[in-house]
Amino acid sequence: MDFSLSDHQKLIRDTVRQFMEAEVQPTVKQRDREERFPAEEIKKLAELGCCGMLVPEEWGGPGLDTLSYALMLEEVAAVDTGMATSLGVTNSAVQVPLMKFGTDEQKKKYLRRLATGEILGSFCLTEPAAGSDAAGIQSRAVAVSRVGSSLGTRTEQAPTLAPGAGAWGGAALASPSGDAYRLNGTKIWVSNGQVAELFLVFAKTDPDAGGKGITAFLVEPTFPGFKIGRHEEKMGQRSSPAVEVLLNDCEVPRENRLGEEGQGLKIALSALDGGRIGIAAVAVGLAQGALNHSIRYAKQRRAFGKAIGEFQAIQWMLADMQTEIEAARGLVYYAAWLKDTHPGKLGAASSKAKLYASEMVNRVVAKAVQIHGSSGYSRETDVERMYRDARVITIYEGTSEIQRMIIAREVLK
Ligand SMILES: Cc1cc2nc3c(=O)[nH]c(=O)nc-3n(C[C@H](O)[C@H](O)[C@H](O)COP(=O)(O)OP(=O)(O)OC[C@H]3O[C@@H](n4cnc5c(N)ncnc54)[C@H](O)[C@@H]3O)c2cc1C
Repeated sequence: MDFSLSDHQKLIRDTVRQFMEAEVQPTVKQRDREERFPAEEIKKLAELGCCGMLVPEEWGGPGLDTLSYALMLEEVAAVDTGMATSLGVTNSAVQVPLMKFGTDEQKKKYLRRLATGEILGSFCLTEPAAGSDAAGIQSRAVAVSRVGSSLGTRTEQAPTLAPGAGAWGGAALASPSGDAYRLNGTKIWVSNGQVAELFLVFAKTDPDAGGKGITAFLVEPTFPGFKIGRHEEKMGQRSSPAVEVLLNDCEVPRENRLGEEGQGLKIALSALDGGRIGIAAVAVGLAQGALNHSIRYAKQRRAFGKAIGEFQAIQWMLADMQTEIEAARGLVYYAAWLKDTHPGKLGAASSKAKLYASEMVNRVVAKAVQIHGSSGYSRETDVERMYRDARVITIYEGTSEIQRMIIAREVLK
């Protein structure tokens, strides 16, 4: 196992780092205050290939490995963690399932545009009554038949009769399960929701089958019955918008079902499993950013006639921060390496990386604020924002408790 970076990986890391420092750092505080999405900045990162890093060239992406993807997210998160979350959702939570489970038609229609950053994707699993318990979602999808009329297209609940045997004509009865689905439900905490043009939505086609009755759909915001609801007022990562999505008889063409009926939970969990490596990389990047600010401050701030970095108490905090970051980075790179080279052996490695890195970053940002003293509590400093940005990382893409469950299951197997 050799984690030394290839020249190309170093180039990715250095190019993204330079871009983030030059073009994003100057506006990050203001965007945090205004909860403003970095649309222009993401477009520029898209030109560097960062919006579809894992997508093969034939579908418009650079076809890079998971480690390169982790390096990109680290560098973005070191400056603007919300932006890294937005990139993680479109790259991993949306494009990876589309690559794995999508038809060629679906890939032609959506994957290329996602991979080039022309459009961004959102992932809609969480609901008001179901977060960790994904099998408990209540959104419903019912197969319906579209019936053409001179006034446009209306939908009817699909008949249960055999094809061709019903009363309302060939077109409506051609497909026993209907040629569209009607979705109803509410999704919350939808990252990128305000700007996305493709939503991967999970809803139950067979509520009696529990987790096995969930189906995934590719939903465009222009589909009838789709509406963006409340905007979440967030503690941190405020440049990454999260919204409510309201599905009110939202009509989704049958060809926009991703995978088979009942495969939805498998699709969601496989997206989250890979996505956890990305979130762990985000944690490492944010922690590194907080450490970099702390080192600079420790050298420059003086107390009792010395730079505070000369006090052993401060040195020990810096030493612990550095060590924990390196430990987490090792777990992230190991999980990325396993995913690319031995996917069958990934096991709980992405959960371990996510668990450790997300808890580590919260310890690191707390120390960063401590080193900065009262400045660390001021909105004028980056570490104040970083402290807020870190908090959600033990919660989204599976809480720490859920990661521990996954790891314990493997340990006790
Ligand atoms: C900023 C942000 C962005 C997000 N982006 C998205 C997104 O883009 N798409 C999306 O679908 N979702 C998104 N989410 C939702 C996120 O994935 C959920 O918040 C997360 O899965 C936890 O669900 P919950 O909030 O409902 O908590 P709950 O599931 O209600 O959990 C509450 C507490 O109970 C614990 N708990 C639950 N079950 C168990 C158990 N079996 N054993 C032990 N403890 C347990 C949890 O760990 C937690 O501590 C986002 C959330 C945030 C905050």
